[in-house]
Amino acid sequence: MRKVMALLLACLLLGGCEARHAAPVQAESSEDISPVSSQWWEEVPEEEPSSSELEPSSVPEPPAPEESPLELEEWALILANYDHDIRDYEPELEEVQNGYRMDVRVAETARQMIADAAEQGVSLLVCSAYRPYSSQERNFNNSVNTYLSMGYSQDQAVAATARLIAYPGRSEHQTGLAADIVTPAYQGLDDGYAETAAAKWLLENAADYGFILRYPADKTEITQIDFEPWHYRYVGIDAAQEIMGNGLCLEEFLEQQGMLE
Ligand SMILES: [Zn+2]
Repeated sequence: MRKVMALLLACLLLGGCEARHAAPVQAESSEDISPVSSQWWEEVPEEEPSSSELEPSSVPEPPAPEESPLELEEWALILANYDHDIRDYEPELEEVQNGYRMDVRVAETARQMIADAAEQGVSLLVCSAYRPYSSQERNFNNSVNTYLSMGYSQDQAVAATARLIAYPGRSEHQTGLAADIVTPAYQGLDDGYAETAAAKWLLENAADYGFILRYPADKTEITQIDFEPWHYRYVGIDAAQEIMGNGLCLEEFLEQQGMLE
């Protein structure tokens, strides 16, 4: 009873309990209290721990961490497309197959995917991987020149080329995260490849390794690149499963994640 009275008095004197919190010097350091006021302030610290203990115990919400969204590897979500130029991007490289190189953070995974496919009787053949800016520029110009020689105008030649070959600086091959993967028995880069066992295996399994079919047939409006059943791109396992599982393209996924600038 005395305790309660003392506390009430303390509150009244200090203009309410909120004011008491606003004067923590007195409330928390009971050893420094002047002898005159000590008889009631000594009681006060008992209140402090109990109210501060309550707050943390009400904070933890066990389901929240488990519901945490995808674990994204941001470096693996770099976007290179008609709208995103990465001409200064230079990844550290490592060989994957036949001299073709990819980003060192991806090379081992790519080799593992190829080995696992082989174990299941599917032969995957890398026919292009990392391409520096200079070779992309050369490829692009060669294609434009071919169209020009066929009678296309400059604009037509560039437009026709851009459907097949990314502008220099805007190719995923410069990221070191993309590979064109065919099979020894079918090495043509055309729609027919989609019917091979290799293409079907990739479509079904690549996401387990963090790779996506980057240019699906039904996303050409967004990617502005024609269907390329051979072009696979590493984005990380969580992102790949989300993208392949929901029939998205990388641009749509990045937009959903608020990562599209
Ligand atoms: Zn490609």
